[in-house]
Amino acid sequence: MSSPDAPDLAALGPRLPSPLREAEDDRFARRGLRLLLKRDDLIHPELIGNKWRKLAPNLAAAHGRTVLTFGGAYSNHLRAAAAAGRLLGLPTVGVVRGQELAGRPLNPSLARCAADGMRLHFVDRSTYRRKTEPDVLARVLRAAGAEDAYVVPEGGSNTEAVRGCRALGEELRGRADVVALACGTGGTLAGLAAGLAPGQRALGIPVLKGGFLAADTAELQQRAFGGRRGEWALDDRFHFGGYARTSAGLDAFAEDFENRHGLPVERLYVAKLLYGLVALAEEGAFPRGTAVAAVITGRPFP
Ligand SMILES: *Cc1c(COP(=O)(O)O)cnc(C)c1O
Repeated sequence: MSSPDAPDLAALGPRLPSPLREAEDDRFARRGLRLLLKRDDLIHPELIGNKWRKLAPNLAAAHGRTVLTFGGAYSNHLRAAAAAGRLLGLPTVGVVRGQELAGRPLNPSLARCAADGMRLHFVDRSTYRRKTEPDVLARVLRAAGAEDAYVVPEGGSNTEAVRGCRALGEELRGRADVVALACGTGGTLAGLAAGLAPGQRALGIPVLKGGFLAADTAELQQRAFGGRRGEWALDDRFHFGGYARTSAGLDAFAEDFENRHGLPVERLYVAKLLYGLVALAEEGAFPRGTAVAAVITGRPFP
């Protein structure tokens, strides 16, 4: 039963635990490795992958208040928050980076947000950068007419989200030796690592350039769990120059992976993860007999 102040998330029908299936791939098999795909992209048709795991506990904590969050013009997180608002009847506000976007036709990603009922509020880049400073945040909330909103940070990685992602690790206990995923904020990695069993390890592939993610992930674990949890590491070699940067080689790789495995490969995150795993397998980074699970955190848009 749902009540006005406690949205009934189970009514959304998430497919949990998400499916885990083995992928036959000679690039792994000839090294004596197994490749498994953890299909978090199948959890929900609109709240996809780790976005479900991160948003669900926040939607519960919002208790029916307006949910306000932040993102860039193509943010997967904004689209998921907007869809959740429509499905649960919660008002949502999206604070979008880039004042210059305000007067223009919406791109397909923002148009989807607006069609889902999300109110879009555009801010300039300097305000956006400083949005976690209390006085800047207060000013943004006032300007957006959303002073009482429940605020979810950019990318959705707060304490509730990190704790929500622990379930991803728990679903993989006993199923793989290494669990790999692409990282933006590190929130999913922080929770996943905490949910794995002793002896399993998590490997994060950052898709942003900058080398800040180890500190951010440790800080997220500190705030969510009071200290470092689980065994995790990052490999910083596969960001291709930064967020949304790509190359002809990466595109060709992703297309080939789609053809081999019938898996639609999301390009901003998942393509870089899979590319990194094939490279690591080929350089002999995993001992023979290792089962490697790749978390498929998203699916291509549109
Ligand atoms: C948001 C997103 C991520 C990154 O998750 P973080 O918790 O921010 O590290 C990874 N993959 C996909 C497809 C995403 O949309």
